[in-house]
Amino acid sequence: MTMSSSVPGEVVLDRFQRPIRDLRISVTDRCNFRCPFCMPAEVYGERYQFLPKQEILTFEEIARLARIFATLGVRKIRLTGGEPLLRNGVEKLVAMLAGIEGVEDLALTTNGHLLAQQAQALKEAGLQRVTVSLHSLDDDVVGQMNGRNFGASLVLKGIERAAEVGLLPVKINVVVIRGVNEHTLVELARFCKERGYIARFIEYMDVGTLNGWRMERVMPAAEVVRLIGEGMPLEPVEKDYRGEVAERYRYRDGGGEMGVIASVTQPFCGDCTRARLSPEGKLLTCLFASNGHDLREPLRAGASDQELQSIIADVWRVREDRYSELRTSMTERPAQRVEMFRIGG
Ligand code: SF4
Repeated sequence: MTMSSSVPGEVVLDRFQRPIRDLRISVTDRCNFRCPFCMPAEVYGERYQFLPKQEILTFEEIARLARIFATLGVRKIRLTGGEPLLRNGVEKLVAMLAGIEGVEDLALTTNGHLLAQQAQALKEAGLQRVTVSLHSLDDDVVGQMNGRNFGASLVLKGIERAAEVGLLPVKINVVVIRGVNEHTLVELARFCKERGYIARFIEYMDVGTLNGWRMERVMPAAEVVRLIGEGMPLEPVEKDYRGEVAERYRYRDGGGEMGVIASVTQPFCGDCTRARLSPEGKLLTCLFASNGHDLREPLRAGASDQELQSIIADVWRVREDRYSELRTSMTERPAQRVEMFRIGG
């Protein structure tokens, strides 16, 4: 049964004529990893206070907002975190979102550590596909990049199980950091190719304020394509829709595809159709936003669907975000930026 909001649909465009097509919903700020480029352990230690339960949107609140976003043009919903599989009963939320009228694509991004035991329930609830973060097959590199010294085995089991139950296509997000994992990329690319997983190699970004980002640690996407293409020849593939993030390539031998996400060297803000919802109900119009627009307050104060739709539409209409396009020309970057684990990439 499809569910829709009571308010009539309306297409809203921002200041650069970009529609809202993709909604990324961060369902928790908690994570069981401490990836240094996102949630460094020295800052987010054992005593770090995550958001208290009452401040986090309930599943019903998330589903209601998602229905309203769908009336404004959202066609794709991605669940993220922190680590979304840490949120108890997340499959119940999936079931609520799966029935929303207009939503054609329901995906989830996870670090994969808990995926093996939850894949079946997520699939049955209506999840269509998963993206799993795995930055290498080398356990030492994996342990360094998850900040917990966990090896890859549980994540690999989760990926395999996701494919088994039909959460397809399985995409693998690989953050590439020069001096950390570039020497293991070809092995990972071959592993994904042989199993039909779609690897997405992501340029290291200055998300948040704590990851000590430096340009010299960015391995340009073009270099990654050259490196992988040396042994496994590639050819470019057209994008499926406006706003698709990855530059896609297919293996010339018919062995599937891979992609790169080049936010630093080939920014794509001009086609950015992504809105983000933080766990505490803030609407963020850019990954590099300094802060968001509070939707929880009006939601809990009894605002109607119509009123909420207007609030969201008004925020989007004045959106001018294009941080990645401006990054290199900025003399000074905004000191305050929402941390990555709060908005899930
Ligand atoms: S930097 Fe902001 S505006 Fe540009 S693509 Fe990323 S999220 Fe979109």
